[in-house]
Amino acid sequence: MPLDPTLRYSGAVNISSFHTHTRLCRHASGDPVDSVRVAAAEGCTGLGISDHCPYPGGLWAGSRMAPEWLDEYLVMVDAARDIAPFPFYWGFECEWHPDSDAWYREYLRGELGAEYLVYGAHWVRTSNGFEYIPEAGDPGNLAPYVDLTVKGLASGLFDLFAHPDIFLAGFPRWDAETRAASRDIVDAAVAMGIPLEVNGLGLTKPKVLGDAGWRAPYPVREFLEFAADSGAVLTCNSDAHRPQDTLALARNAKAQAEAWGIPTVDAMDALAFTKRGAAV
Ligand SMILES: [Zn+2]
Ligand SMILES: [Zn+2]
Repeated sequence: MPLDPTLRYSGAVNISSFHTHTRLCRHASGDPVDSVRVAAAEGCTGLGISDHCPYPGGLWAGSRMAPEWLDEYLVMVDAARDIAPFPFYWGFECEWHPDSDAWYREYLRGELGAEYLVYGAHWVRTSNGFEYIPEAGDPGNLAPYVDLTVKGLASGLFDLFAHPDIFLAGFPRWDAETRAASRDIVDAAVAMGIPLEVNGLGLTKPKVLGDAGWRAPYPVREFLEFAADSGAVLTCNSDAHRPQDTLALARNAKAQAEAWGIPTVDAMDALAFTKRGAAV
């Protein structure tokens, strides 16, 4: 059923967001149609649903959809597209590891036809398996994390780099090591023309103790200033895990970037749909 066309937001500036989750990932709520309704009421210029991708073999199964739920995901995004009064796209947020490259490239992107892929560099591979980087701040994990992340960026699979500074949640000091890590990561993204996200969800998370006192685990001012100075395109997204956050967190991210004096480009323009798709 189409939305009431009079249901238009008349408050703050309109905005888009391309980082949106659904109940299928087992740690978010709502269906894409719920996200569309909230977004339409709040002044959306473009919306992307990018739930966490599943993995064969049940990797991180507690916080990812099961592969056999992909059919339901496709039905859900089709239903949302049918009612969306703005440009609407769907894809996935994926980690990256060479062992899974064919899964992302040939199956999710090729066979299922995902319209875009968001790179969420959440993990580092250690002797314990794939660990969540904010909780894996052992000094020995930084170099392998950067190495994997740079390779992920260079894979040519990704259209958007989510929370590029998430590792600074586990490595909260802005010192020679984290500056060098940031340089390698930003340079790889810039070389590939991948926009970097200012993540709204991170602003709601428990703070960590940085050099200048308590700060959000991400986004991180020093990282984003460095990225902007390096010529990166920065774009604000919600990373919504509840329908009510579909646009609100992107607006918070934009307000934070503006308060820091960091220039951003609206996600709809940054993805320009999508420069990368033809190259994969
Ligand atoms: Zn999530
Ligand atoms: Zn996400």
